[in-house]
Formats: sequence, C-alpha cells, structure tokens
Amino acid sequence: NKLVTLRDINKIYTKGQIQTHALHDISLDIYQGEFVAISGPSGCGKSTLLSILGLLDAATTGNYQLTDIDVSDLSVDQRSKIRNQHIGFVFQSFNLIEHLSVFDNIALPLEHRGESSKTIKQAVDKHLLLVNMESHKHHKPNQLSGGQQQRVAIARALVGEPKLLLVDEPTGNLDSRNGDLVMQQLKTLNEQGVTIVMVTHDERYSLMAQRKIRLFDGEVLAETKGAIA
Ligand code: ADP
Ligand code: ADP
Repeated sequence: NKLVTLRDINKIYTKGQIQTHALHDISLDIYQGEFVAISGPSGCGKSTLLSILGLLDAATTGNYQLTDIDVSDLSVDQRSKIRNQHIGFVFQSFNLIEHLSVFDNIALPLEHRGESSKTIKQAVDKHLLLVNMESHKHHKPNQLSGGQQQRVAIARALVGEPKLLLVDEPTGNLDSRNGDLVMQQLKTLNEQGVTIVMVTHDERYSLMAQRKIRLFDGEVLAETKGAIA
C-alpha cells in the first residue's frame, strides 16, 4: 500500500533578489509501514522535504499524492485540514504546552477536532500506555526528563491515528541514554505498523530505519535499503 508519491518536486525560496533552490527534482515513494531516515549535511534540504511531506509548505513545482489524494495544488486551508487528519509531527524541541498536564497535552489534537470527552479519554489513555507514560499523566512537562517529554510528544503526534509520522531530529535535545530510549520507542511503534519518516544526522539512528535517503544540495545522493537493525 503506497502512502506517498512525490514526483519531480522542486522547492525554490524567494527572498527579495535571492533565490534558494532547496530541492531539485525529488521523486520518492513511501509505503505504509516503512521507517525511512533522511540524512545529509546542514542546509541540504531535509527540513524543507519534511515540511512538504507534512503539508506545512507546498512545493514550487512537482506532484505530491498522499494515498489517493492529490495534494499538490491545495489552498492553505485545504492543506491544513488534510494535515490535521493524516499527519503527526515530532520536533527536536518537544513543543509541549507548559501549563497543561501530560494528559491534556496529548488530548489537544482531539480537542481541536471536537471529539467527545469519552473518545478523548479512551484515546489518550491508550497512547499514554503506548509510550509508557501512564504513571505521569498528571505531571506538567517541566516535571519530566527530556526523554519523557519527547515520549509525550510522540503520543500527542499519534493520538489522532495519523497515516504518517514525521520526526525531525527527535534526539537533538537529548543525552545519549534518553536518545536511545526515544529511538527504541519509535522502532517499536514502527513494528506495530506506524509509518515513520525521520530526519536525523546521527548515523547510529539512521541505521535503525529500513531505508536511508541521503540528501546533498537538494538532491537524493544515495538510497540504502534493508538495513534494519
Ligand atoms: P536542512 O534541514 O537540511 O538543514 P533546509 O531544508 O532547512 O536544510 O534548507 C535548505 C536550503 O533552503 C538552505 O539553503 C536554507 O538556507 C534554505 N531555506 C530553508 N528554509 C528557508 C526559508 N524559509 N526561506 C529561505 N530559505 C530557506
Ligand atoms: P532544523 O534543521 O533544525 O530544521 P534550520 O536552521 O534548518 O533548523 O531551520 C529552522 C527553521 O528556519 C525552519 O523552519 C526553516 O525553514 C527556516 N530557515 C532555514 N533557513 C532559512 C533561511 N535561510 N531563511 C529563512 N528561514 C530559514
């Protein structure tokens, strides 16, 4: 089952007189259940590719099909609607809301969708278990370690059952022990069927993915398959 079809994606940023050609003719297929790592040096286009995949931004030219939906030429509103339905994000900086409990942080995407409190409670409890944070559901983010905060962020990204989980440098703010725990968590989720695309410049972690895509100057430099640990 194919989830993502990118064809000849180009992204050009224009700022006054200056143009940056951030992505050149990227074509990429991602199948349901895959764990894809994107690596490459700073400025090669990793974040740009992730934000196009996540419908945070649109390509300048090219075609993007998400499942059977053509999302290449949507309005900003249509794009954010599909993003909220189908995409989960995890960022380097956790992005949790400090004055809300762990439970309420995870509940947020469902609150935005207007789900009933019964549905929300069931879904949040399920995802607290999934990331082993059920004993901390009343804690505030500043009472948690970085690794625990990132696991809460993962639960929040997954609570709406997205088709695709996009992860940008998930271990960038973590020490190696917590980084390992978060990566182990992502690997387990992938084994349970979650499709993951992860940007990392940590070679150890990109080895955990089934596929590794290396970008250089906005182009796919190399693709490695089957390196599952
Ligand atoms: P990476 O994530 O691999 O570090 P980025 O995707 O952030 O790379 O950036 C790719 C190129 O596009 C870089 O040259 C960067 O400076 C440029 N770029 C990224 N975002 C913007 C933006 N919003 N406006 C202008 N240039 C940008
Ligand atoms: P990261 O690799 O952690 O995403 P970056 O420094 O590449 O960090 O980008 C941080 C944010 O700044 C991104 O949203 C990116 O699009 C934006 N950005 C990156 N380069 C530029 C640039 N040259 N001009 C404007 N915005 C940029």
